[in-house]
Amino acid sequence: MKNSALVVPQDLLRLFEGFDEGIVVTNRFGEIVVMNRASERIFGVGKDINLHKNSSILLSGLYDPETKKQILATNLLFNQAIATERPVASQEFLLKHPDGKDFYVQISTCPIFGEDNSLTGTLGILIDVTERRKLEETLTQRNLQLSAINRIAMLLNRTIDFREVLEYSVRQTMDIFTGDAGAILLPDKSERKIFVAASANLNEDFLSEVHGSELTSTIFGRVLKSDTVESVNRSENFSTGSFGEGMPRSLRKSPFDSVVVFPLKAKGKAVGVGALFSEVERVLEDSQREIMEGIGTVIGAAIENSRLHEETIQKTRLLESKNHELQQFTYAITHDLKSPILVIEGFARELKRSAHLEVEQEVLIEAILGSSARLHSLVNDLLDLARVGSVEVVLEEADMGELVNRVLGDLSIRLSEKKIKVALEGNFPKLYIVIRYIERVFTNLIDNAIKYMGDQPSPQLVIGAQDKGDHFLFFVRDNGIGIPQEFHERVFAIFQRVKTNETEKVEGSGLGLSFVKKIVELSGGTVWVESAGKGKGATFYFTLPKQ
Ligand code: ADP
Repeated sequence: MKNSALVVPQDLLRLFEGFDEGIVVTNRFGEIVVMNRASERIFGVGKDINLHKNSSILLSGLYDPETKKQILATNLLFNQAIATERPVASQEFLLKHPDGKDFYVQISTCPIFGEDNSLTGTLGILIDVTERRKLEETLTQRNLQLSAINRIAMLLNRTIDFREVLEYSVRQTMDIFTGDAGAILLPDKSERKIFVAASANLNEDFLSEVHGSELTSTIFGRVLKSDTVESVNRSENFSTGSFGEGMPRSLRKSPFDSVVVFPLKAKGKAVGVGALFSEVERVLEDSQREIMEGIGTVIGAAIENSRLHEETIQKTRLLESKNHELQQFTYAITHDLKSPILVIEGFARELKRSAHLEVEQEVLIEAILGSSARLHSLVNDLLDLARVGSVEVVLEEADMGELVNRVLGDLSIRLSEKKIKVALEGNFPKLYIVIRYIERVFTNLIDNAIKYMGDQPSPQLVIGAQDKGDHFLFFVRDNGIGIPQEFHERVFAIFQRVKTNETEKVEGSGLGLSFVKKIVELSGGTVWVESAGKGKGATFYFTLPKQ
């Protein structure tokens, strides 16, 4: 008897039946002598299998040629254990059940030795790993999809240029889905027509037919509205040889046998569609549809971003030109106002000097002179403001401490009239600046501190400088009437003044802080005010870059 050497005890056989893993025992010739129920289940075979036959012959009769090859390989595992008399590490095999279903089995084998230490057979453990493999395949598929989406997102991130975004999108989708031609189609503002915004490998016939076509009549419009991927093959409409409803007629004579149209979405809404043409028919799997949807979202967002960017650029250009126009206009008007004011002033002065005037008339003429002088200085200030930034300037090195002291010297009479104590705080640096501009900033801020001191019994002014690393911070602090919170931004706008009982008596045009803001911003800094409110003083801060 060939296999008499291997006897599997009954209690061991019963034990095998209790296992979830498949257990197969062969004799030393590789013929199956035991197969527990779990292994029958894994292989999809029943008890009627004639054991005691070579396992490869036994099983291969049931399977297709490819599976037979695999089964022979599984058999090798048993044979290997026999030949080497050593355990064989587990391997996985893709097999097919007699009913046609694929399954993966993991098999490990080891030799069995008899009492005299001679080899009597092998024991194989089989585990059905189909579920795990399926999960792995889904995960791999997912990973591929994600990396495709990632790749296109990264590429689109490199540019904000509208045209480039469109062209990259066409090329990338063709690349990922192996398309032979591609296009991005966008609707017009009214969403009645659709336009080819970018394309690759599509002929003139197609472009002229589709560009500007009615949205409702095409597959492109349909996908835009329905927000779902559509895939059409030529063979699906054999009778006409076309692609069916909504397909451009020009595609009938094209080399393409399939078209996939997918929505491009931004903020949850389809903003356009992508189209992919291929010379072979294709059946889209659910996972491919999902990637297309994912890619459509990435492209849609990139299109929206670049559109916004484009709009911002256009708006900025428009604003710049309007601003320039406005500056020219202000300059022209104020310039033209200057001479009539001078004429009024001149005539009034002449009248005062030459005519014999009643007291009343003299008062009136003084009033004319006063008003025209104010008007004159207002016009001068406006002209100066318009000039800041529009005339060439030179940067010069200046010791900021000396500059502040010079300004304080110019204002010394007014400071002492109001008995204001002045202190400097911190180290004032040397900086490259437009000296007369920065002098004007300090003059305006210190002048305001004097003007808006109110009836503070011990008026104080602190001017400071701080090194902030890449820039310097300067401040002018007073303990005067303060500024209510709601005016902190507004005071920097042209002609803006805070109207209270205390400011009413103070003369001013509302131009000083506009100067300060314009100069500081032109110098690359920022300016702001802090004040705890009425009667709590105010601190004006501004920064200047170190260059
Ligand atoms: P003007 O002083 O000619 O009115 P500004 O542009 O210099 O114009 O200032 C705008 C307004 O800001 C002033 O009218 C005043 O109400 C307020 N302001 C400016 N500086 C101070 C300050 N140091 N303390 C309180 N209020 C101030």
